[in-house]
Amino acid sequence: MAQLMDGKQTAIALREQIKIQTSELIAKYHIIPHLVVLLIGDNAASMSYVRGKELACQKAGIKSTIIKKEDTTSQAEVLEIIHQLNQDSNVHGILLQLPIPKHLNSDFIINQISPSKDVDGFTWTNVAKLSNGFPHLVPCTPLGVMRLLQTYQVRILGKRAVVIGRSQIVGKPMAALLLKDHATVTICHSKTADLRAVCKEADILIAAIGVPNMIDSSYVKIGATVIDVGISKVDGVIKGDVDYDSVFPIAAYLTPVPGGVGPMTIACLLENTLTCYRDLVGV
Ligand code: NAD
Repeated sequence: MAQLMDGKQTAIALREQIKIQTSELIAKYHIIPHLVVLLIGDNAASMSYVRGKELACQKAGIKSTIIKKEDTTSQAEVLEIIHQLNQDSNVHGILLQLPIPKHLNSDFIINQISPSKDVDGFTWTNVAKLSNGFPHLVPCTPLGVMRLLQTYQVRILGKRAVVIGRSQIVGKPMAALLLKDHATVTICHSKTADLRAVCKEADILIAAIGVPNMIDSSYVKIGATVIDVGISKVDGVIKGDVDYDSVFPIAAYLTPVPGGVGPMTIACLLENTLTCYRDLVGV
């Protein structure tokens, strides 16, 4: 039977550490860490995520500002806001809440964020650092997975890791972080042949697909660590990519959904905000 990896408790502990570090930094340097979130449009899910981020900042003693713009905002206006935030020495982190309206070029806009204020680790400068083995500001969800693996002392070195999903937000940075820690890494995706057989070889299996309950025990090696990144709503209930009841009896470690990777993502956003702060304040 698997040991559950409690993301909720791990995130609470991490957020507590960040709160202590924040108050120490403010006492020493008299500068308050400040995260600005740019929200464009009225996507209900995005608004709720942004509120969650605001609350988390508040609890950690980090200042947060939400800039809310209409979904008709032009690309030039968005770029102007980002350029101003880049110049503002009182702003340490900038987050563009995704998705943004279709008339805006998200890749281009993201890359106008100063890499030293890029709390999501999405700019190509930070992506290049990660893929060359020098991670600094890395996407919050895969960073959260690494923090969970560290907390539960899951050995990575020399292990066979399989990541299902190749997105820029989760799959690819996840694979790069595991590779940096000396796992032998395979990335799978929707075109992978014989996915089941590839997954079955994994000591560490990361599912970041978005297909509820897809990964049952037939994909999992006995004694594997299984991390479920997926979040889907089925009849109003949050489901992961892993069929929990099927996998629980044979995995060594398993993350629940909800209460696994999700809470770690927000904690790591706070961690990245402090990383930006330290770089910019020079401490
Ligand atoms: P995405 O849609 O960008 O990528 C999904 C990936 O899964 C793609 O690379 C695709 O090739 C692969 N895939 C799809 N169907 C497949 C199949 N049948 N077999 C094998 N591979 C398949 O999604 P994403 O942004 O990477 O997010 C993945 C999941 O993680 C989603 O459910 C998302 O909601 C969730 N998510 C959770 C958090 C969190 O904090 N827990 C954060 C980000 C994303």
